[in-house]
Amino acid sequence: MRKISIFGATGSIGQSTIDLIRRAPEAYDVVALSGGHNVAQLARDAIELNAEIAITAHESRLPELCAALAGSDVEAAAGARALVEAASRPADWIMSAIVGAAGLAPGLTALEQGTTLALANKESLVCAGQLLMRTAAQHGARILPVDSEHSAVFQALVGEQIEDVERIIITASGGAFRDWPLADLKTATLAQASSHPNWDMGQRITIDSASMFNKALEVIETREFFGISPEQIEVLVHPQSLVHALVGFRDGALMSHLGAPDMRHAIGYALHWPHRKELPVERLDLAAVGQLEFRTPDLQRYPALRQAQDVMARGGLSGAAFNGAKERALDHFIAGRIGFLDMATITEQVLEALEAQPGLIDASMTLENVTQVDDLARQAADQIVAQRTG
Ligand code: NDP
Ligand code: MG
Repeated sequence: MRKISIFGATGSIGQSTIDLIRRAPEAYDVVALSGGHNVAQLARDAIELNAEIAITAHESRLPELCAALAGSDVEAAAGARALVEAASRPADWIMSAIVGAAGLAPGLTALEQGTTLALANKESLVCAGQLLMRTAAQHGARILPVDSEHSAVFQALVGEQIEDVERIIITASGGAFRDWPLADLKTATLAQASSHPNWDMGQRITIDSASMFNKALEVIETREFFGISPEQIEVLVHPQSLVHALVGFRDGALMSHLGAPDMRHAIGYALHWPHRKELPVERLDLAAVGQLEFRTPDLQRYPALRQAQDVMARGGLSGAAFNGAKERALDHFIAGRIGFLDMATITEQVLEALEAQPGLIDASMTLENVTQVDDLARQAADQIVAQRTG
């Protein structure tokens, strides 16, 4: 039996992971499951999968979790420190599917144990890519990409040499507002931004798809994960979301990965790697699809993509600043305090402000320094919003 843990088990990726585990329960010994507010779901899954421990991220929810687990053998715990403790428990495979920078510390701890980390939590690579890659190398741990584009690239690279790669192209659906007139984006509502044309995902990443902040994070994720230069990374808008990525080689060949927009493919690939096993995903009928379209993204419509280039050019801890600012700007948009387009204005202003602080962005990449920049970015975003609304 393989020992596995799932961080962010109650979310969209977490539930898809559990769906795959549930189909072969005899193969897995579940160590830890974590969640946030959805304590009832967490307890239900932990009991069903006979997990060793269930952790909610929120200490105030611990009594509720204990009550829901009463009568079972599952341990209950809460808070950020408990998440890190659970990540240090021996496991063969850990799914990192917490949303946001909160996934960094547990992911890092898992790598320190030499575990294989299936990484959906792209924010941790954006904030601290070098730290994660270095930690994995030091401890003989492996990171397997779960983001669909990065899983696609990873699969296209099997048997290839990274030196032979000329470029990596990741695709973007274009999100909810792909075909909206630019002028209307200003008044786009939360409900409109929260519905994705092709993928069924958590609310935050769905909104990030509409603004392309998600793609901006993924461009940085591509750089950090595959170690190629920013000029070698391209984004193409592909409304059908069937081609997830393409890898261009020095001989002009383009290898692409196609599949139905179902995250169980990328999750299952990481779960069974280096083998392929049957997965419950729809098989593509390309004749029925008929046409695949591709176009260059409009940087005026998607300023986040331009900001990703600036972040990569700046390097250091600017990824942590960008992500922290983005997370807070998104909180403010969800809370109705700012408009859709204000999010990119805020990230731009926060990046400028933090980059102007001597030594901050160029400090060494430790968890403490990343956390400090993340905190400062959030505070700066809050201040900007307070000034605008106050
Ligand atoms: P969801 O919002 O659906 O789930 C997030 C999970 O993290 C939930 O278990 C949630 O708990 C938990 N959580 C939320 N806040 C915290 C916190 N502060 N500390 C600890 N746990 C927390 O997100 P998704 O599943 O959509 O995304 C998860 C990650 O995977 C993200 O990094 C996303 O970018 C990435 N990803 C997602 C894809 C998708 O298709 N959904 C595709 C590719 C990447 P609760 O809900 O109980 O509060
Ligand atoms: Mg993706």
